[in-house]
Amino acid sequence: MFRLDDKVAVVTGGYRGIGRVLCVELARAGAHVVAVDVLEPPIGEQMLADVRAAGGSAELLPCDVTDHEAIGDAFHALYKRLGRLDILINNAGIARDQVLLRVSPEDLHKTLAVNVGGAVFCSKAAIRPMSRAKTGRIINMASVVAETGNPGQAAYAASKAALIGLTKTLAREYASRGVTVNAVGPGFIDTDMTRMLPEDAKQLMLQQIPLGRVGQPHDVAAAVVFLCSDEASYITGQVLRVNGGMYM
Ligand code: NAD
Repeated sequence: MFRLDDKVAVVTGGYRGIGRVLCVELARAGAHVVAVDVLEPPIGEQMLADVRAAGGSAELLPCDVTDHEAIGDAFHALYKRLGRLDILINNAGIARDQVLLRVSPEDLHKTLAVNVGGAVFCSKAAIRPMSRAKTGRIINMASVVAETGNPGQAAYAASKAALIGLTKTLAREYASRGVTVNAVGPGFIDTDMTRMLPEDAKQLMLQQIPLGRVGQPHDVAAAVVFLCSDEASYITGQVLRVNGGMYM
């Protein structure tokens, strides 16, 4: 399958959910993975155990993606220590679901700060090493709702649509430096984020999925590993949809 030997991959929101599986699969493909997260390190340790079981290598980088200065310093230190930074997966995300009339300024700002601001400033921190090496991969974790909309997800859908605009812009800005920038658009994936939904909402979602099943984090990870590989070097500015046909 696709190999990422000797690459260094940073995964934000890498301790649990989709991010945890991304870390394991990127490491299984040969990358050394650095997982950035705000959760307590013992949660990250569970991901590290999975990585070790897969024969890979990874480390934890406890940091909040909204703390731009800390992210800049941490990525700089990482690059100095490891000598490269090949892959960035902007996966950290939050959802504060409310119908429009209940969206508070705080909910909107926090959602945009993590989902969009985090991706912007982690990309900014990673782009110099990538440009210098004349190769790199940035993947932004968007969502099917960026393209379809979803009642009750005004702030979240707006943030994910913004990520697609960011993806296309960075793809154009850094193509000449050999850096590709793509988005992955998961549909309804089985994680803590979606397990919290009421049963009737889940059933409604299922009815909209032509392939007739909820997606698994592994479905998303397979797409990410491919986009990070040399085989995907001619793909940039795209949204790779991993949604069971929910949106075509
Ligand atoms: P999750 O809540 O299980 O995991 C999100 C991770 O991001 C957590 O580890 C969390 O601690 C981390 N995080 C949150 N805020 C952070 C911050 N400020 N700094 C650093 N880390 C932070 O969610 P998930 O379902 O695994 O989703 C992962 C990504 O995929 C998110 O961007 C989400 O929007 C997107 N997505 C998920 C689904 C789905 O169905 N689960 C569908 C479409 C898109």
